[in-house]
Amino acid sequence: MATQTIAGNPTTKKKLVRRLVSDNSQQIRRTVQAVFAALNVWLGIQFILWVRYCEQGGAGLNVPRPAGAEGWLPIAGMMNAKYFFLTGHVPAIHPAAMVLFLAFVLMSLFLKKAFCSWLCPVGTFSEYLWKIGSRIFGRNLRLPKWADISLRGLKYLLLGLFVFVIGTMSSEAILDFMSTPYGLIADVKMLNFFRDIGQTAAIVIGLLVLLSMLVKNFWCRYACPYGALMGIASLLSPTKIRRDAEACIDCGKCSKACPSGLSVDKLVQIRTVECTACMTCVAVCPAQDALQFALPPRNAATPAQRWRRRALSPMAFAAVLAFLFFGLVIVAKTTGHWQTNLPRAAYMNLVSHAKEAAHPGM
Ligand code: SF4
Ligand code: SF4
Repeated sequence: MATQTIAGNPTTKKKLVRRLVSDNSQQIRRTVQAVFAALNVWLGIQFILWVRYCEQGGAGLNVPRPAGAEGWLPIAGMMNAKYFFLTGHVPAIHPAAMVLFLAFVLMSLFLKKAFCSWLCPVGTFSEYLWKIGSRIFGRNLRLPKWADISLRGLKYLLLGLFVFVIGTMSSEAILDFMSTPYGLIADVKMLNFFRDIGQTAAIVIGLLVLLSMLVKNFWCRYACPYGALMGIASLLSPTKIRRDAEACIDCGKCSKACPSGLSVDKLVQIRTVECTACMTCVAVCPAQDALQFALPPRNAATPAQRWRRRALSPMAFAAVLAFLFFGLVIVAKTTGHWQTNLPRAAYMNLVSHAKEAAHPGM
């Protein structure tokens, strides 16, 4: 149907072919986020109980050390991954940190930055913060383009710093670092940082929480070096958000809904490192086969034929995530590459003297 624009230019309004089945990606994503957050809470409680048991010289609830807590040691994960690729040996100290790091990188290689919007507890927390902020303040702020682009560089700067330091370390240097008291209980040091948090750190965290309420995904978008790394890996992902120009009615709902502020309705595929594969855009799209998280389309005449067996359903998406995550964890556990095999007595001695374990570089 030909219509007139306000400026008088003739345009063609496309006919909407409504979706046959309503989208459930956000329900599935929120369920995955909740399960992963609960898993982290469980690991956190177990880890605190274990630390207290060691600190009290064997008094209190005797629980095993949860190696999964090493997921919160991304730098150890990167260092150990380098050690593994240099030597071909799985490191004996904090192997779980490496296994989890590699699982998250693999996810990014196949499913864009899905780790950030489907699994990462900080990402989940950030998402709820901006939603709460939007309710309190009526809307979220959008930074001017120049500020947004400059701030986005910050996370790459931080990542570059870590990559530079780790890049200069030999396998022997990594092993030496991990074998120091600090390296052995890096997870306990991290916990103690939050237990004995200083005034400056508390103010910075408070400020980040406030900014995350005002600006969508402030931490993830501007400051998270882990997300920056996942974004770079995600450039290789064969699956992406892809728009079918024929099926699309140019309503612009996808762009309006995108938490990363991407111009989804203007592109045929979303390559950018900023796409977290959250599928919010897909959820709001009203047109059948117009927007999907998919492999490249088939060369066919109709949208339905183009995306047949190319689009990934939200359930299949969650299944691939679960396969990569649990697959690697199970392989690591069954091959004995999950736990740091340090005797309990050694841990008790190290944890009870954690204050004296200084960073080797300091
Ligand atoms: S383009 Fe879609 S999947 Fe990517 S961040 Fe925006 S809403 Fe999420
Ligand atoms: S939501 Fe986006 S992809 Fe879907 S019809 Fe509207 S403009 Fe096209």
